[in-house]
Amino acid sequence: MSTPRSIVLTAALSAVVALALPATAGQASRPFAVDGSPSLGDDYYPTYGNSGYDVTHYDLRLKYTPATDALQGTATLLTRPLLDLTTFYLDFALKPSSIVVNGAPATFTQSGSKVHVIPAATLKTGSLSTVVVKYAGIPSKVSVDGQTYWVRTVDGAVAVGEPEIAAWWFPSNDHPSDKATFDISVAVPTGTEVLSNGIYTTRPDQLPGWTRWNWRSTKPMATYLAFVAIGQYEIDQSTAPNGLPVINAYGEGLGDNGPAARASIERTAETIEFESSQFGRYPFEAEGGVVPNAPLGFALENQTRPVYSSGFFRRGSNSYVVAHELAHEWYGDSVAVAQWRHVWLNEGFASYAEWLWSEHESEGTPQELFAATVAAHPADDPFWQVAPADPGVPELFGDAVYDRGAMTLQALRNAVGDETFFAILKKWATDRQYGNGTTEEFINLSKSLSGKPLDALFNAWLYTKAKPTIGLPAPLKAGVAAPKSLAKIRAAHKLLQQH
Ligand SMILES: [Zn+2]
Repeated sequence: MSTPRSIVLTAALSAVVALALPATAGQASRPFAVDGSPSLGDDYYPTYGNSGYDVTHYDLRLKYTPATDALQGTATLLTRPLLDLTTFYLDFALKPSSIVVNGAPATFTQSGSKVHVIPAATLKTGSLSTVVVKYAGIPSKVSVDGQTYWVRTVDGAVAVGEPEIAAWWFPSNDHPSDKATFDISVAVPTGTEVLSNGIYTTRPDQLPGWTRWNWRSTKPMATYLAFVAIGQYEIDQSTAPNGLPVINAYGEGLGDNGPAARASIERTAETIEFESSQFGRYPFEAEGGVVPNAPLGFALENQTRPVYSSGFFRRGSNSYVVAHELAHEWYGDSVAVAQWRHVWLNEGFASYAEWLWSEHESEGTPQELFAATVAAHPADDPFWQVAPADPGVPELFGDAVYDRGAMTLQALRNAVGDETFFAILKKWATDRQYGNGTTEEFINLSKSLSGKPLDALFNAWLYTKAKPTIGLPAPLKAGVAAPKSLAKIRAAHKLLQQH
């Protein structure tokens, strides 16, 4: 994610507000069954996700009317109970009209964005269970704890957000540790476009005057990475050098930002070629990018197809934000965080990818960017008071997670050498492909591949609330200009704050 940090901060703070949850009914007559809990135990976001089951697939069949922002849906969740379950929870902010579990109507109550479901019969451990939720609502009018993440636009809507967005358009187990495949099908008035993840087909809907867009993601995806962008879009399709389909889309009315957006996003396939040479094979079935005509204020690494605020292109092309978001396809999407506090594994890696891209563009090496970034933060700068491996919720998307995260990787590279460093990056991506990772697991991998202790280095760079005293780069020589890319990389993050 690239963002003006204040926006995410508001979102992040809202998420720690505890929800008032309904008491669960006693189930004394079923001694071997238990209740699922409304938490997956994330220490930063204890209300995110629910325990007791895994979702393996979401089938979302939606109908959306841009003129009124009316969303109607049937969501079918294929789930596997991890325990015998008498009740379980879903994360959802819209109002369900009915919930059917394994063919039988279930009863349910809703509080905020938690839905407590009591099925007619106990769900058996390991057996496939089908949960069908029907719903309708005006997502832009739904707020939880004063927050609304669905963005209505002049000609449609955009559902893009981190760490929260899913609850505004589909019921889910909303935590990156429960990934699933997706079919996202949206009917809209003919002449309106629908962008989402993966690959698509369109066909006339049964309803005259409506067209149905069917998007499919065949690789497991975290719920927050699923997106829709609905409205007037021009769609460009091509084939990447690796043979994958490239689907880019540009909102109508981007104005002066439109050509610069295209000049950046149309380099997606080229950027993925370069990043594949650094990180290993690209993990997904399609590529692309979407630039809605909406004041999003951030860019997000939606799986297969990042979504970019048009403001990133106000000063012309911005290949750094593209390199950043696409690096997340490996680090963030394919390898997702196991808990949100590990988010430097996403943002530090994507920021480091900008440093690699800088060298590729002959605008400064990672080592030069490392030295320039250290030089920008004197020892008493509050920047050093945030430990990237445990930044806390208010600093989850703060500068330290991005920049100190990237510096950590360059310090690691200097300690283990280029060959071992890139072997570590590749093995991290392949060992945990389509799964999750923690900081501790990354450290263990680095130690085992390098054969070096590395504990002091990682402690100083990731866990200590002070400027590290080891692994620091030699200072830039007096009179030597900072790397050309430095201002561009800063602008990639800061540009939108000038609004
Ligand atoms: Zn990012």
